[in-house]
Amino acid sequence: MAKKIVTDLDVAGKKVLVRADFNVPMKDEKITNDDRIIQALPTIKYLIKEGAKVILFSHLGRVKEEADKEGKSLKPVADRLTELLAKEVAFVPETRGEKLENAIDALGNGDVLMFENTRFEDIDGKKESKNDPELGKYWASLGDVFVNDAFGTAHRAHASNVGIASNIESAAGFLMEKEIRFIGESVDNPDRPFVAILGGAKVSDKIGVIENLLEKADKVIIGGGMAFTFFKAQGKEIGTSLLEADKVDLAKDLLERAAGKIILPIDTKVNKEFSNEGDIKAVPADQIPADYMGLDIGPETVKLYERELEGAKTVVWNGPMGVFEMTNFAKGTIGVCEAIANLNDATTIIGGGDSAAAAMQLGFAEKFSHISTGGGASLEYLEGKELPGLAAISNK
Ligand code: AMP
Repeated sequence: MAKKIVTDLDVAGKKVLVRADFNVPMKDEKITNDDRIIQALPTIKYLIKEGAKVILFSHLGRVKEEADKEGKSLKPVADRLTELLAKEVAFVPETRGEKLENAIDALGNGDVLMFENTRFEDIDGKKESKNDPELGKYWASLGDVFVNDAFGTAHRAHASNVGIASNIESAAGFLMEKEIRFIGESVDNPDRPFVAILGGAKVSDKIGVIENLLEKADKVIIGGGMAFTFFKAQGKEIGTSLLEADKVDLAKDLLERAAGKIILPIDTKVNKEFSNEGDIKAVPADQIPADYMGLDIGPETVKLYERELEGAKTVVWNGPMGVFEMTNFAKGTIGVCEAIANLNDATTIIGGGDSAAAAMQLGFAEKFSHISTGGGASLEYLEGKELPGLAAISNK
């Protein structure tokens, strides 16, 4: 069902509640990376331009007890946003009450206000995280309409997303809309050939994604630590490589069901220790010495994966091909990243987490059609699960 987006709402002169994802990394009350604030700008700027009264809020970290509040105020975010917008963002250090209500009533068209970390409401009975109906209703009462732009929490039903959306008209912000358009539509209705590349440490983290994409994609390319559980399922010797022994049968079953759709590495870069130094070499996938562990896909596999990607029209990538944090085991991830980035005329999507970090770190960010902003939310979306935060947004 198509969801309303912010441009479908009548916002001029209206009090517009905006759930953003300002869960930025902080050290000593200073923001160490403001990417998430920057990503939220298009929706905020649009609302200002349209003459809305903009009321921003977000969670920041986890807050279980009073002491956790220390260093978790959104005030630094309001200050940074003031700089980025070159416009005062009034900060109200409350999550409810008269002071907040009066500040909202005093807003003029195009003004912006931010209220305090929504998780401060978790101290007394997890009201935010457990989607307390009264809290959602109260927050909804502060505005006329609701814009949800926090994709990163869309896989959770909280008062600040689902709670509010259950009470007033709501729409997706531009960031959320981009996630729906790229991940949602690409997985449900992709241009073909559709190739999925899945890596990362464990099969167990990605079972749902592999199962869903096996049905939807034309090929599922596997790399990273999870490849070794598949090797084991094929009866290969994997030395001391990462193994999930309890997932070998599942891997066997997936290989059978895949009927050739799953593509595994043909060589692997090994070392005796989990280290960037030592006797590092590439060996064929079926010749891993008993006392070595595979830490990256090998050069022949990179070439194979480049060929497998040729002509792809939709590519979804989630999870590194090796221990890319160590330079000697980053080549597989870099090679695959490059191969995807160089595809012409393809929709290329990175499904969050480590692969997003790797692509940005390697300077490829601009080359992808979309880099998802959510970790857990992206994975659940790729699994084909309904995301409650998204489902709660009003239909067109
Ligand atoms: P994930 O969070 O599941 O995407 O996994 C990412 C992590 O998997 C990264 O920290 C990688 O270092 C790790 N990883 C990738 N390949 C391997 C491997 N062959 N052995 C051990 N860890 C790996």
